[in-house]
Amino acid sequence: MKRLRKVKILATLGPASSEEDMIEKLHEAGADLFRINMSHSSHELMRTLVKRIRAVEERSGRPIGVLCDLQGPKLRVGKFKNGTEQLEIGQTFTLDNKDEPGDNTRVYLPHPEILEAVQPGHRLLIDDGRLQLRAEKTDGKSITCVVVNGNKISDRKGVSLPDTTLGVGALTEKDRKDLDAVLAVDDVDWVALSFIQRPDDLAEVRKIARGRVGLMSKIEKPQALECIDEIIELSDALMVARGDLGVEMPLESVPGIQKQLTRACRKAGKPVVVATQMLESMISAPVPTRAEVSDVATAVFEGADAVMLSAESAAGDYPVEAVSTMAAIARRVERDPNYTGIIYAQRPQPEATGSDAISLAARQIAETLNLSVIVTYTSSGSTGLRAARERPQVPIIALSPVIQTARRLSVVWGLHCVVTDDAKDHDDLVDRACRIAYREEFGKPGDRIIISAGIPIGTPGSTNMLRIAYIGSDGMSGH
Ligand code: PGA
Ligand code: MN
Repeated sequence: MKRLRKVKILATLGPASSEEDMIEKLHEAGADLFRINMSHSSHELMRTLVKRIRAVEERSGRPIGVLCDLQGPKLRVGKFKNGTEQLEIGQTFTLDNKDEPGDNTRVYLPHPEILEAVQPGHRLLIDDGRLQLRAEKTDGKSITCVVVNGNKISDRKGVSLPDTTLGVGALTEKDRKDLDAVLAVDDVDWVALSFIQRPDDLAEVRKIARGRVGLMSKIEKPQALECIDEIIELSDALMVARGDLGVEMPLESVPGIQKQLTRACRKAGKPVVVATQMLESMISAPVPTRAEVSDVATAVFEGADAVMLSAESAAGDYPVEAVSTMAAIARRVERDPNYTGIIYAQRPQPEATGSDAISLAARQIAETLNLSVIVTYTSSGSTGLRAARERPQVPIIALSPVIQTARRLSVVWGLHCVVTDDAKDHDDLVDRACRIAYREEFGKPGDRIIISAGIPIGTPGSTNMLRIAYIGSDGMSGH
C-alpha cells in the first residue's frame, strides 16, 4: 500500500473506532498511525486496541505506529446523572468533593489539591474554554462559581486553571500506572506526555522508558515555550497540542506558535504533529468547513510531519470520511505549484555529520537526475530522520531490519518504511533496494534509484555510502 503524499495522518481511536474492521477502514483510508488516549482508555481496552492494530498491520503488510497518550496533570470533572447539562450565564455552579453524579447545580471534581488551591476570582475554563466559570466562594472542599459564559457541560470534561498555580509534575500517579501498563505490552512505539512544563519533566519518563518507546512532548503550556529548545532536544518528537494550548495562551497566538514549533522541529530533525480541531465539524457532518480545509492545508504547507484527528475519528459520526478528507487535502496541497518552493525556503543547513552530508547529496542527486526514489538503510531510524529533514521532492523508502524502527518512523514526513533483513554484502544491498523499490511500486524496470547505507553493514551511525542503481529488467535485481 503506497500513499500518494508525504505528510502522515495520526488518527485517535475511541468509541467510534475501536472495532478491528473500523481500524482497518481508517488505515485503508489513510491513517498511518493510531493514538490511544489514556484519559479515556482502561488498560484492558488499551491492550485490546494494540492487538487489533497489530492484526490490521499483519494483514496490510505495512508497519503501523501506535501512540499512547498519557493524560498528564489534566483536570477533569466527574460524571452527570443525565450525561450532560446546560448552564446559563449568571447561574451558580459548584465543584465539590462528593463522588456522586452531578446535576444542574454541582459536579464532582476528583482533585482535592485543586479544591484547596483555587481562590475566589480565579477562572475555571471547562471543555477547552467553551464554558467559563469564575470562583466566588471556596472552603477547601468545594468551589462555588458563577457562570460567566454559558454552555453545555458533560461527563469528564477538562478543566483549565490559568490563574491558579499548581505544584504538579508531569507524571501523575495515574500516568505512572498507565506508563507501566503501556511498557508491559512491549508493542507500543510512542508515548505522548501531556502538559510538559520543563526539561526535567522528560528526564523521569526517559529513565523509566529506557528507549522502549519514543517520547512525544505535547506543547500545551506557556511554561514549555520558555525552554522549548531544551525540550525539543530531550524529546523524540513534538505535538502542537492546540486544544489546551489555546486555553492556556491567547487563542490568537496559537498559529504563530504552530509555525515556531514546526520550524524548530524541522531544524532539529524531530518529527512534529499538528493536533486538535483540524476537521472538528466532521464530528457531525460528512464534509468539513472551508476554514478547516485551510487549516489542514496550512499544516501541510508548513512541512509538519503529521496531522492529527481527535474526536473526528474517535467519537464522530464520520471517522472514515475525516481520514480520507485529510488525505485528499494533503495530496492536493503537495501537488500545488507553490508547495515545493515553500518547503524549500525553510530548508535547514546540514550539520557536519556523515549522515547529513549523505542525506543532502542523496536529495540533490535524486532531484538532478530525476531518480524515482531515495532508498535509505536505517537500523536505529536516525538516518531516516535526517533523510526526511531534507524534505526531498522524490519519495524516500526507509529500510530497517528492526520492526520497531519502521513503526516508530511511521510518523515521519515522507518515509515509506519497509522491514528487511540486513544485506549480506554490497551486491545484496543494491539488489535488495531495487527489488523493494519495484515491489512497493516506487519504480519500474529500467528506472534509476539512489541508495544510502553504512558500510560495513549493520554498524549503526555509519552512513557513508551513496550508490545510483538501475532496477533490473525483471525487477528482481539492480545493476
Ligand atoms: P488532548 O491533547 O486531546 O489529549 O487534550 C491535544 C490538545 O490539547 O490539543
Ligand atoms: Mn491536551
